Formats: sequence, C-alpha cells, structure tokens
Amino acid sequence: MSDIAAPAIPMLPAEARIVVGGGGIAGCSTAYHLARLGEENALLLEQGRLTCGTTWHAAGLVGQMRPNRNMTRMSKYGIELYATLEAETGLATSWKTCGSVKRRAYARAHAGPAPAAGAGLHDAGCYALDALRLESGRRAWGAELGPDETPIDAGTMFAVDLDKAGGFIGREALHRAAAAVPHKRLVTVVLEAADAWAWGGEPLAIAGEAAGELTSAGFSLRAGRSVGLGYLRGAAAARRHEGSAVGIVLWGETVAATAWDRWPADL
Ligand SMILES: Cc1cc2nc3c(=O)[nH]c(=O)nc-3n(C[C@H](O)[C@H](O)[C@H](O)COP(=O)(O)OP(=O)(O)OC[C@H]3O[C@@H](n4cnc5c(N)ncnc54)[C@H](O)[C@@H]3O)c2cc1C
Repeated sequence: MSDIAAPAIPMLPAEARIVVGGGGIAGCSTAYHLARLGEENALLLEQGRLTCGTTWHAAGLVGQMRPNRNMTRMSKYGIELYATLEAETGLATSWKTCGSVKRRAYARAHAGPAPAAGAGLHDAGCYALDALRLESGRRAWGAELGPDETPIDAGTMFAVDLDKAGGFIGREALHRAAAAVPHKRLVTVVLEAADAWAWGGEPLAIAGEAAGELTSAGFSLRAGRSVGLGYLRGAAAARRHEGSAVGIVLWGETVAATAWDRWPADL
C-alpha cells in the first residue's frame, strides 16, 4: 500500500434543496442572497477554488453606467451592497468608492463638446482608444469576430488567400460561403443625433423591420457623435451601404443612423 495520503475530498451533503453551480461572483452572490432570504438548504458547488474563474481576473471596477436598465440597476444595487458587506460579515472587502470622468456622459447631456481643452484634459482612456478602433473599422475579437463569423461576414477576405499552397482548414467551407448568398455584412454605423448614446448590442432596423445588431459602439470625437460597428442581415447583407438609413433601438426608442461599408469620407 502507498503511504501517500489521499487528497482530502470534501464531504458533500447527499442532497440539497437548491444547488448553485460555480463559485464565481454570480454563484457566490446567488448563495449569499439565498441565505439572506432564509434558505438553509442550499449548496454551492465549485470545481476549483471560489472565484478562481473569470472573477479572479476582474479589476473590481463597479461603474454605474451599464448597457441596459437591468444591468444598471444591478450595478447600483451592487454598490449599495458592497458598501455594507464588510460591516455585515466582518470580513475586509477593500471596497473604496471613487468617481470617474466620463466625457461621453457630458456629450449626451449637453449635445456638444465638453470643455476639456480649457481644463487641459484630453481623451486618452480605453473608451477613447476604442473609438479610434471603430473609426478605422478594426474588428475586435469577441465583438465583431468570433467562432461564428467568417471572413466573408466580417469583410476581411482581403486577408485570405483562398488559393494558398497546401490549403488551410476551412478553405472548402469558405469557398462554399463565397458562392452562396451572404447572410450578414459588417457595416459602420453613424448615429444622426449628437446626444444619442449607443453601447453596442442594440438591435438595428431598416424600414421598421429587424435587420441586425450593433456589435460595438463608442463616442467618436471625429464625428462628434456615437458611432459603431454592426452586422446587417438578410437582404441588407447582400447590398452595398453608403449611407443607408437604419434605425437603432435605444432604450425602447428607435433613433436614426446611417450604415456604411467604410467610414464615410466626409466625417
Ligand atoms: C481581465 C478582466 C477584467 C475584468 N474587470 C472587471 C471589472 O473591473 N468590473 C466588472 O464588473 N467586471 C469585470 N470583469 C468581468 C467579470 O470578471 C465577470 O463578468 C464576472 O467575474 C463573471 O462572474 P461569473 O460568476 O459569471 O463567472 P466566473 O467567475 O467565471 O465563475 C464561474 C465559476 O464556475 C466554475 N465552474 C464552471 N463549471 C463548473 C462545473 N461544472 N462545476 C462546478 N463549478 C464550475 C468555475 O470554476 C468558476 O469558478 C472582468 C473580466 C476580465 C476577464
């Protein structure tokens, strides 16, 4: 017999009324709120260590402006909760409240440039950089690009050599897709109003009919308004776009925008 001690296997209850899967912030929060509701028979199952997943990577920033109402409400609730958690549990949370400068919020509220120059401020944060990406039409992994998008969908066939010596994985599928009717097409979207703010993920409509979705959005200083990248689907995917009228559904209202195959020359 080996004298190496077997790893300690936690004794799990044979049954539980509620089982929560995953000990990231979502699972831990669910278990915490169940306990607060008085639930005494809930089990949190984590395959590794608590918070070892995506939660471990989070910078811990808890901004209040979120892409939609539910996320904003959740974030506001989180801020109230974190402020009291240390007193409630006796465990240090390192929670610190601070503010942040959001120039886009100013633009939304005042429909004009923020008085940044006078104060010596220049946009240089991640949102400013992302706006430059959108202006130059650079697709981002996780937004415009993912396992479901082909280079045909994303308009990146200029970077593909279909006749590459030795071939490549997916070449036949790409050949077939090139011969078929395109099912979606990447476009740059420019909002008409300077005070409408898109976040990315909003539905796109043409003549009142669903036509696709925004994948990224940001405030372009060059255009003086919100711009984005997105996919048009169906019939709209098969034609060119040089200022096609599209609508973006923002906060339940449709606002006017234009769609372009390339960044419009006059902006
Ligand atoms: C680099 C980075 C920075 C970030 N910064 C911020 C930030 O500043 N502010 C912010 O709000 N958000 C931030 N985020 C996003 C945030 O971290 C995530 O939205 C959040 O942590 C997701 O939590 P979750 O509980 O849904 O997932 P996870 O934390 O991934 O938890 C899922 C858990 O489930 C477990 N699991 C999976 N399968 C099983 C199974 N079969 N059985 C048992 N357990 C299982 C995993 O091990 C894992 O622990 C950031 C993310 C990254 C990557």
